[in-house]
Amino acid sequence: MTDGGAGEQPAGAGPGPERALELVAEALAYASQGIVVSDAQGRTLLSNARCRSLLQTGDGDILAEKAVEAALQRARSGEDHSETLDLYSPTRHTLEIRAFPLGNRVEPRGAVALVDDVSELRRLESVRRDFVANLSHELKTPLGALSLLAETLDGEDDPEVVSRLTGRLGSEARRFSRLVDDLLDLSRIESGGTGTLVPVPLAAVVAEAIEGFHETASARDIELAVGPVSTATWVSANRRDLASAIANLVDNAIKYSEPGGSVTVSVQEGQGTVCVSVRDQGIGIPRRDQERIFERFYRVDRARSRWTGGTGLGLAIVRHVAAYHGGDVTVTSTEGEGSTFGICLPVCQARTTDG
Ligand code: ADP
Repeated sequence: MTDGGAGEQPAGAGPGPERALELVAEALAYASQGIVVSDAQGRTLLSNARCRSLLQTGDGDILAEKAVEAALQRARSGEDHSETLDLYSPTRHTLEIRAFPLGNRVEPRGAVALVDDVSELRRLESVRRDFVANLSHELKTPLGALSLLAETLDGEDDPEVVSRLTGRLGSEARRFSRLVDDLLDLSRIESGGTGTLVPVPLAAVVAEAIEGFHETASARDIELAVGPVSTATWVSANRRDLASAIANLVDNAIKYSEPGGSVTVSVQEGQGTVCVSVRDQGIGIPRRDQERIFERFYRVDRARSRWTGGTGLGLAIVRHVAAYHGGDVTVTSTEGEGSTFGICLPVCQARTTDG
């Protein structure tokens, strides 16, 4: 490998110390970590661009710079050093600062400090911790109910009580199984296991999604109406996932409606996009909860969700499905009046295969 500067050196000889330092400085400009090198007297020999951008972010500057300087000082006295620094300006972020002696530990010839922005890593760790804590709770609840029901059933002779308890055992077991299915779906979609998207007629997907709900709705005295869907509208989709996302919205609309209400599924086509809307006249969702309901395990009313057999994962799955189809999920709702959920997707121009 050659460059313009290499031609000035005699063949076989390396660049002089100053040129070498320049080359190293140039190379470190590409590093994603902030790097500062100081000599034994504390003079800065090198500080890359990433380090400057990490340390000069607002009022926290001085704090961060001082922390790096102190870390280098400790390293120059022969000690490794590591700390994390929480800064609150201009936005909340966390830096990890590590410093090491250079040369030898007894009499170091200098020190290097490495600076990383670990804010995103921290956020993901905290999301993962919350998820594991929530999941343990969600798994324990039906398991606790199952073991309690089994204990109560043990030694029970009254056929009426036995039949009631076995009925409840069955419904808790089904709830548990739905939870595991939803978890597996969520994990598959989150890890990118979504398969290829192929052109499919939206009318067929909608029909597949609402299949079976007419019975559930009429059992609860709820009218389920489906508006016309043009057979000319095709979307690029994973048919199974899209149908189950629409089904999830219909299921919720029925679950959170009172008897006598109605649920309407309709399709609106705009410029290059198509939205499948599910409107109900149910209990509605308070404004403050409307963004949070898409979080895993978030429920407005925990007791009602439990009573209806919900897993708290449905809308999180719907949001992921809409996103990987290049679309979005929307909600408008008024407490006591009802809600409208919509999955909006890009319309597919090519109508070749029906996957
Ligand atoms: P769940 O299994 O609890 O229904 P979801 O993720 O599907 O979980 O929904 C999250 C929460 O959003 C529900 O617990 C409920 O509080 C609220 N919600 C969802 N859909 C509706 C709706 N159509 N009407 C009123 N509340 C709803």
